[in-house]
Amino acid sequence: MENLKAIVTFVIVSFFLALISLLVLYYMKEFEENDKYAQHLGGNMIIVKDLIKKYGKLTANDGINLTVNAGEIAILLGPNGAGKSTLIKSICGLLRFSGEVTIDGHDNRSLEAKRLLGYIPEFPTPFPMLTVNEHMEFIAKAYRLTDWQERSEALLERFELDDKKNKLGKELSKGMQQKVSICCALLPDPKVVIFDEPLVGLDPHGIRELKAVISELKDEGKAVLVSTHIIDSVEESWDMTLIMNKGKFAREIRRGEQFGEDLEEIYFSIIDEDK
Ligand code: ADP
Repeated sequence: MENLKAIVTFVIVSFFLALISLLVLYYMKEFEENDKYAQHLGGNMIIVKDLIKKYGKLTANDGINLTVNAGEIAILLGPNGAGKSTLIKSICGLLRFSGEVTIDGHDNRSLEAKRLLGYIPEFPTPFPMLTVNEHMEFIAKAYRLTDWQERSEALLERFELDDKKNKLGKELSKGMQQKVSICCALLPDPKVVIFDEPLVGLDPHGIRELKAVISELKDEGKAVLVSTHIIDSVEESWDMTLIMNKGKFAREIRRGEQFGEDLEEIYFSIIDEDK
């Protein structure tokens, strides 16, 4: 009888211990998944620290600090000459500057950073003697992409370039050049995408598609930085707007922190005050 009691107690205790172990393992796994998701959503993809860029005596960027996380759209909004393009070119590793820029933890001039970064310049310069298709092929080879053709077709179709595949770079209009530049930048599926004044020069279809693409990039967890001087183009999907003037950030507004103020009112109150 005593033996039977001991056996039953042993079985019950073992059962509960096994149950507790299973629950612990389950919650550990959940925690790991959530942590991975949190890192994916919140990872600091672009970090700029104390960036100063001078052209001779002119200080175009004066001590810029900026962080853009995965899954975020940051808008650089400022008048002509505020220093937006200079900042973007510095982040993309195209200019020398003092300070520090990292892309997903890599120095912005490293190959790792360049692999992660898609840059759409304000003034695209396609290769004059390469066709649209050859531009895509060139990018695919440079990034050592495999199975890229389907993605390339989809991008070209989306930006209405599918019937221009055999046109040479020198034969493209400004808007078409910009669309090719967008397709080339997006082909390697970069984690960080930086657009410099992307809407200028695009036709209505291009503008609509680009806005949709920017929202999709955010949903996919990419970090997106867009510069513009057109307030109306700052659409619903932004997370952070940085108002830039005379080489500095005059104000950083996070979504939901406007307290009823219109972005346009905030912008003009800053820019007019600073004249
Ligand atoms: P934004 O993109 O906001 O219009 P930019 O970054 O192009 O502003 O320019 C910021 C300032 O730097 C302006 O005063 C501009 O004239 C100057 N600047 C830009 N590029 C150069 C350059 N290559 N050499 C000298 N000055 C420049």
